[in-house]
Amino acid sequence: MNPTESGYFGEFGGRYVPELLMPPVLELTRAVQEIVPSEGFQAELKAALRDYVGRPSALYRCPNISKDLGLNLWLKREDLNHTGAHKINNCIGQALLTRMMGKPRMIAETGAGQHGVATATAAAMLGLECVVYMGAVDVERQAHNVRRMQLLGATVVAVQSGTKTLKDAINVALKDWIANQRTTHYCIGSVVGPHPFPQLVRDFQAVIGQEALEQFAARNMGGLPDAVVACVGGGSNAMGMFHAFVPHESVRLIGVEAAGSGEPGCWHSATLTKGTLGVFQGVRTKLLQTADGQIDPSHSIAPGLDYPGVGPEHAFLQSAGRAEYVCLNDDRALNGFFTLCRREGIIPALESSHAVGWVLDNPGLLPKGGHVVVCLSGRGDKDMGIVEDVLARQGGEGK
Ligand SMILES: *Cc1c(COP(=O)(O)O)cnc(C)c1O
Repeated sequence: MNPTESGYFGEFGGRYVPELLMPPVLELTRAVQEIVPSEGFQAELKAALRDYVGRPSALYRCPNISKDLGLNLWLKREDLNHTGAHKINNCIGQALLTRMMGKPRMIAETGAGQHGVATATAAAMLGLECVVYMGAVDVERQAHNVRRMQLLGATVVAVQSGTKTLKDAINVALKDWIANQRTTHYCIGSVVGPHPFPQLVRDFQAVIGQEALEQFAARNMGGLPDAVVACVGGGSNAMGMFHAFVPHESVRLIGVEAAGSGEPGCWHSATLTKGTLGVFQGVRTKLLQTADGQIDPSHSIAPGLDYPGVGPEHAFLQSAGRAEYVCLNDDRALNGFFTLCRREGIIPALESSHAVGWVLDNPGLLPKGGHVVVCLSGRGDKDMGIVEDVLARQGGEGK
């Protein structure tokens, strides 16, 4: 479904932004209504997704795990996209929109660096100037992604204020957007932020579910899967996977959040399963906060899930009972990671490993012999360091 004119999905969404940000937000809202649906835009987007990103991505039935579990596990292979994850679908869309809005410059903020790399990639391809803001702590931690962005021609700005992490980078990016709104588009990386971003990013990611629906039907006599499953950080790969399936009420929609270490009182990123309603980064949604509204730190072994907010449409689908949200701890996500490596020869991102790991742990919650489609949001090469640290701590081989 689409949000109301002011951006609400039920009681979630909206635009809680300072007056100075309203002009570019309204300009973007017009562009979403007028440019995105146009034939010219859609033709260019389709060509770029096909020729540059490599779409359609494969829908693959895992032969070995399917046998182990007694159900059919299908993977939507977003890991096979150019740059190795779903994020490029959105960045290509927003970069094309930037150009068609007549703006020569795109800015972004990034924590783990994956969204920064995807933005820098799309900007290079379309000849846009690109500046990526990143907390100074994250610049140190993610040196490899910083070098990738620089190779792609982006300027990476290390933000030295506050805790020197993502939320400080977001503040500086917003200031840049206010100061340079005539020339600049702010490329948000998930289905979060003020209206129209949750809708815009979902519509660019919806290609995941549209393809999966058609590919599944073509190979299963026009049928539908019993469930689709995706990991949820900000919620863009999950929203992209769910969108085409929402009207098909027989299909269960399952979002898997990160439960952190799973120990009582640990930090986690399970916004929908454990969070409460509030306003965060321009949008009314569920988030991790204290009783008096201070944002709690989030944590996950998967860098891309480590975020204390979530897209408002997920909060709506949860409240409406259309989608279910569950959470999985770091160890069980690692079990998903190792199992997919060993049994199927696919190294998944730690984010996607949450979705895989949940299915491995809960085959009994799905119909015996049924069909489940998991969004494999990205590949795991980027996570080798984290996995090696875990193996070293365990003093040996992963199970
Ligand atoms: C960033 C990222 C995620 C989390 O973001 P969503 O907006 O929740 O999709 C998941 N998987 C991978 C591979 C990522 O890079």
